[in-house]
Amino acid sequence: MKSNGKGASTDLRISAGEVPRPEALGALFSANKAFLHKSIRQLAKINPRELDSVVHNLHEQAFSFYDCLDCANCCRSISPAISHNDVDGMARKLKMRPSEMVSRYLQIDGDGDFVFHAAPCPFIDADNYCSIYSHRPKACREYPHTDRSRFYQLLNLSLKNAGICPVVYAILMKLSNHYSPKNR
Ligand code: SF4
Ligand code: SF4
Repeated sequence: MKSNGKGASTDLRISAGEVPRPEALGALFSANKAFLHKSIRQLAKINPRELDSVVHNLHEQAFSFYDCLDCANCCRSISPAISHNDVDGMARKLKMRPSEMVSRYLQIDGDGDFVFHAAPCPFIDADNYCSIYSHRPKACREYPHTDRSRFYQLLNLSLKNAGICPVVYAILMKLSNHYSPKNR
């Protein structure tokens, strides 16, 4: 591992073989959940700029070879939080009134957010394409959040997402192995 001279380690490499197939993720996540849970506390101590730099670099690498169309785990297992703006956009795409969009597809979850009333998402097709892609909710566009700033604030969420998204799992495993105290 080399430094870029600004204190940020940007040379961490991730290979295709380190990102599991979606069907293999459950068992791998179960086997490593305790390790990841423990290492999250270590990752929270890293300089936030360094952590962002490393995570964004790993995100770019992983999504350069990993195709979401071969996965769709997120669309099939969780619902994004859906805002009123999202409702308006999806209703426009579907050429229906927002109230009809809500009654046909949405419910309110325990946090008071709109969510899809069922998983898999009603808009995922058999080939893993999103039928409302141009008007999908903001949370769908941002998932899995590994290119967001202040990643240290997303560590606990990312631990949860590591059980859903193979790329998040691979990134957290890479970070955890690299930053574990025995490697420092
Ligand atoms: S709206 Fe599209 S991107 Fe969002 S969960 Fe549904 S299928 Fe996936
Ligand atoms: S964001 Fe993650 S879980 Fe969703 S389709 Fe892409 S690789 Fe799979």
